Amino acid sequence: MSELAGKIALITGAASGIGLATSELMAAAGATVVMADLDQEAGNNAAASVERSGGRAVFHRLDVRDAQACSALVESVVERFGHLDVAFNNAGISGSTSLTEDQGLELWQRVLDVNLTGVFHCLVPQLRAMRAAGKGAIVNTASIAGTGGAAGAAAYSASKHGVIGLTRTAALEYAKHGIRINAVCPGYIETPMTVGDRSIFTGPHLDRAVSAAPMRRLGRPQEIAEMVLWLCSDRSSYVTGGQHIVDGGVTAS
Ligand code: NAD
Repeated sequence: MSELAGKIALITGAASGIGLATSELMAAAGATVVMADLDQEAGNNAAASVERSGGRAVFHRLDVRDAQACSALVESVVERFGHLDVAFNNAGISGSTSLTEDQGLELWQRVLDVNLTGVFHCLVPQLRAMRAAGKGAIVNTASIAGTGGAAGAAAYSASKHGVIGLTRTAALEYAKHGIRINAVCPGYIETPMTVGDRSIFTGPHLDRAVSAAPMRRLGRPQEIAEMVLWLCSDRSSYVTGGQHIVDGGVTAS
């Protein structure tokens, strides 16, 4: 498997879950992966584990809420490697499980700052770098909560709808510059966001989600990574501006 041989990939939220699985898969596909995350310790360990598996990876601590840091990282990648071919803007946080009227402005702002403005902070310098090169592929992580409503998660759902709007708009603007931009929309995936210490779900809520799912199971992070790899490889050369649902059929009905 060498779809990304010689490519430089930048992944945010790379220390855990979907970002880590995608880092592993892209490295196995031949990319040099720049793994960025807020969590320094988990990020260092994650990059070391990708390297132990024979991949090429470096870790950079990044807070996607910091626009300057996002620009500086993209610039440093281009300076060090000469080009940026692939970007996966994936860092995200969940919200509470309360009614919209109880969400509060603080939670609203916190979720929007990371999930939507954070993607914008990364996307802008990536587009500049890729436009100069005349090519590139970018995937932003949305969610099935960005394609419909998500009771109890107003801020999260709004942030992911925003990611899809941003993705589609950028795709329209940059297609003529050789840059493809897509959104991936995971369903319920087994990561620390759903089953670990960052989970917003209570046990019964998660059990209900699993028993209502057509496949009767959560998705695996690797199953999202496969879609992201395809969207970033030349195999999807005519695909841009899409919202690609990977949810085991949850939204099929
Ligand atoms: P996760 O919690 O395992 O990973 C998220 C990573 O993002 C963490 O390593 C965290 O440190 C990092 N991060 C958080 N805030 C950051 C910031 N300000 N700057 C940089 N990094 C930051 O969760 P995951 O499930 O792998 O989530 C990845 C993406 O997938 C998120 O955007 C999430 O909204 C989306 N998503 C997840 C699911 C799911 O069921 N797990 C479903 C739909 C969408």
